[in-house]
Amino acid sequence: MTIRRIGRKASVLFFTGLWLLFSGCGSQASSNVVPAQKQETVSAQEPAQKQETAAPDAKSAAALTYITAADDFSNLNLDDPSRPVYDRYTLGERRAKGLPTVLPPIAPYEKQQTAYLTFDDGPDEKNTDAILDILKQEGVKATFYVVGRNVNAYPETVRRIFNEGHALGNHSYDHDYDRLYASVDNYLEEMEEADETIYNLIGMRPLITRAPGGRMSHFTEAYDAAVTVNGYVEHDWNVSSADSDPNGPVAQDFIDNIAGQAAMDSAIILMHSSSGHEETVKALPEIIRILRERGYTFGVVTPMTPQPW
Ligand SMILES: [Zn+2]
Repeated sequence: MTIRRIGRKASVLFFTGLWLLFSGCGSQASSNVVPAQKQETVSAQEPAQKQETAAPDAKSAAALTYITAADDFSNLNLDDPSRPVYDRYTLGERRAKGLPTVLPPIAPYEKQQTAYLTFDDGPDEKNTDAILDILKQEGVKATFYVVGRNVNAYPETVRRIFNEGHALGNHSYDHDYDRLYASVDNYLEEMEEADETIYNLIGMRPLITRAPGGRMSHFTEAYDAAVTVNGYVEHDWNVSSADSDPNGPVAQDFIDNIAGQAAMDSAIILMHSSSGHEETVKALPEIIRILRERGYTFGVVTPMTPQPW
């Protein structure tokens, strides 16, 4: 971390706090290290995507793999942030087999300056694919916090996200704040329903989740506890494009917002890929260019991704 970055961190936190009030869409600090164990690396199914374009960030076929969590979650202290992590079991299967659902402490990844592009609320019929096209062209991996209902509606796009090496995260089944935040039980039901929907499609369950509207805005201690017991890893964000601002912002606004905030070593950037977010698609190439110019490497959110706050 440079001096300049340390100096800017306080103001960045202040402004990003403000963004939380206006942004649509979520944490759990981790520390300590568990004994390193071999990571089970599995190639993405099928003759895993041939690299169609010589993407700058895609180093090798290894960039197109994901990590499968060990039965006891002991293999999640990773050495790079480029590979998504999935569980081969649903929560129901874990409970039935007597396997743990609580993750052990995992050391936050802090080896290099990393930007995590995150896209909430998709997939949709158009913008998510357009974003995937840009990411492929740029050789960048990102994280898609998908809504279960939309997973059912656009399964091919979800398969594409998975097969192209991006991370899928759970963003609830219905994205209905009234229901989700009426009770912890409602929240967990929605999350499990979305889990099952994703699992039925790709045969894997995401460990990463983002609470609709953000944990910081909606969680009580009871929600935090329930999320932890069920092994869900929550991440809000610390950089917001504000692309869900109701006042009709345009691409340049998002670019300016991100350029004004992205100064920390671990930048978790909130955007949306759902219907109506054409301006986000327009902004993405320039956002990637600016982040690269600032020295960021792109990563996907995993249980080792540092908490944004
Ligand atoms: Zn959302």
